[in-house]
Amino acid sequence: MSKLKLCTVWLDGCSGCHMSLLDTDERLLTLLEHVDIVYSPLVDVKEFPAMADITLIEGSVSTDEDLEKLRKVRRHTRTLVALGDCAVTGNVPAMRNPFGPEPCLERAYLDLAETHPQVPRETLPVLLPKVLPVHEAVHVDVHIPGCPPPADAIFHALYELVQKKRPNVKKLTRFGR
Ligand code: SF4
Repeated sequence: MSKLKLCTVWLDGCSGCHMSLLDTDERLLTLLEHVDIVYSPLVDVKEFPAMADITLIEGSVSTDEDLEKLRKVRRHTRTLVALGDCAVTGNVPAMRNPFGPEPCLERAYLDLAETHPQVPRETLPVLLPKVLPVHEAVHVDVHIPGCPPPADAIFHALYELVQKKRPNVKKLTRFGR
């Protein structure tokens, strides 16, 4: 039987969720009996496949680039998984939402600059007015909460999905406690 195509995508997150995926340790080998990782920060492939079976999204949707990428990934993915609290709720990146993007840019690039204060408008992706969790931008099939989600929860979800089962949502939530 051919293996499923697994992708992982890194939006506005700290990479901790990807580290937790790696923390599944030797269970990765079990997963790799069922999937090929065909696009991910963990592998050196630059093109998203024509159709992925499962895609894990780490991070929130914070910029125009995030939004464009996420919409493309959604069109080319059968089962989309929001991985971790930044993807599920907005979490840390969404702390800027009460202020809006402009005061945050001014604080970072003007107030705190030690030399040549200026906002690099032409070299940065445009910040969205509000940071979004993934489900506010596209349809999400599975949410895995946690900051980061424990490796046990990630393994449970992926192992269920590769067996064409729905991960147990209550179990996923309990792993983080
Ligand atoms: Fe990092 Fe936590 Fe966000 Fe994952 S959920 S990207 S670990 S801050």
